[in-house]
Amino acid sequence: MTSRILHRGRTAPPVARGGKGPWLHLADGREILDASGGAAVSCLGHGHPAVVAAVQAQVGALEYAHTGFFTNEPAERLAEMLVGHEPGGLSHAYFVSGGSEAMEAALKLARQHFLEAGQPQRTRFIARRQSYHGNTLGALAAGGNAARRAPYAPLLADSFSHVSPAFPYRGMRDGEDEAGYVARLAEELEAEFQRLGPQNVAAFVAETVVGATAGCVPPPAGYFRAVRAICDRHGALLILDEVMSGMGRTGTLHAWEQEGVAPDIQAIAKGLGGGYQPIGAILMNERVLAPIMAGSGAFAHGHTYLSHPVACAAALAVQEAIAKDGLLERVRTLGARLEAGLTERFGNHRHVGDIRGRGLFQAIELVEDRATRRPFDPARKLNLRIKEEALARGLAVYPGGGTADGVAGDHILLAPPYTATEAEIDLIVARLGEAVDAALAA
Ligand code: PMP
Repeated sequence: MTSRILHRGRTAPPVARGGKGPWLHLADGREILDASGGAAVSCLGHGHPAVVAAVQAQVGALEYAHTGFFTNEPAERLAEMLVGHEPGGLSHAYFVSGGSEAMEAALKLARQHFLEAGQPQRTRFIARRQSYHGNTLGALAAGGNAARRAPYAPLLADSFSHVSPAFPYRGMRDGEDEAGYVARLAEELEAEFQRLGPQNVAAFVAETVVGATAGCVPPPAGYFRAVRAICDRHGALLILDEVMSGMGRTGTLHAWEQEGVAPDIQAIAKGLGGGYQPIGAILMNERVLAPIMAGSGAFAHGHTYLSHPVACAAALAVQEAIAKDGLLERVRTLGARLEAGLTERFGNHRHVGDIRGRGLFQAIELVEDRATRRPFDPARKLNLRIKEEALARGLAVYPGGGTADGVAGDHILLAPPYTATEAEIDLIVARLGEAVDAALAA
């Protein structure tokens, strides 16, 4: 059968027809262990009965009502659940249809905040190299993934500048300790504020734990406290992108809870709805909203599918399952097992340079030479070969890196569902081990 869909490659990938827990059932009869939930989306796995039932009930009760006229119950309940009892003072939610839309909204909300606060000159955003914030033009401009940006460079807003990522494996110098590394990154950020004029900076934008571009990189201790202090000193907002790392993936509902800071605006998506519906959101604090509510009274932004009732009902059911079934605790337990399994399997592997991550968000980075940390030649496309070898062994993993900028090596990202069993976690490690060795031998 020829496909009329514009796929990612010349040929159509296999057809996925069903799924149960971490398993995907293909139309050709194969069963695939879904170890990354796509790109860290399927936090409850596939076919979760309570979420399926919630979606079915909501689509029967109310499928859609435009937010220009109405609000709806699932959206209100989801907002209450997400920000009603926040540790970090986040007070309001704004529901969109995915991660890129969330990041667009975050950037525009920051801009409007300063316009209405009487600081219209704050038009600059500082983000980081090797970051990914989405594929729409605004979010792509914020991102620092050189390969993804390159074809669209002439179309991207130039109000974004990029500083070094917090990436200990590749960024820390010989003899430098973590505190020294953090101090150096903070100095660089401070210098960028000074270069732009601190009064011109609207926000600093970062993924709390870096996802797709570098592969599950947690920040060094104290990094976000240093960043928060710099933003506060200069009156800029802190926007954290937890589209991939948020909603329990790292073992706390928000990854920033482990950093001792809270953002002013936060983007979430993927694990929010667990893939049962397309949904993303921004969460924000009162400080961000205050001048807008005292001024125009409305966020000057919007989409047709804001607060979509079925999407919000799905996300509400996902988040209720996470809370009711104690799944954050489970992420911490299973995450430790996954990390230990990867360390046992790859800790002495001559081509695995780094094993890193947090909770059920773990990656291995492949290097040609462990001593020098030299990545493989990107032309070898090692990460894609591993993906293929894994798929041939009934395992889906998320490949990345190996780009021509050579900064992040090939890596494989794992993000299994919070509902996986111990045996399934062990099977992921075993199959990945075989796939890595097969790809290297090819
Ligand atoms: N931010 C981050 C950190 C992401 O990982 C992604 C998706 N990989 C996005 C934003 C964009 O989300 P979406 O693909 O849902 O638009």
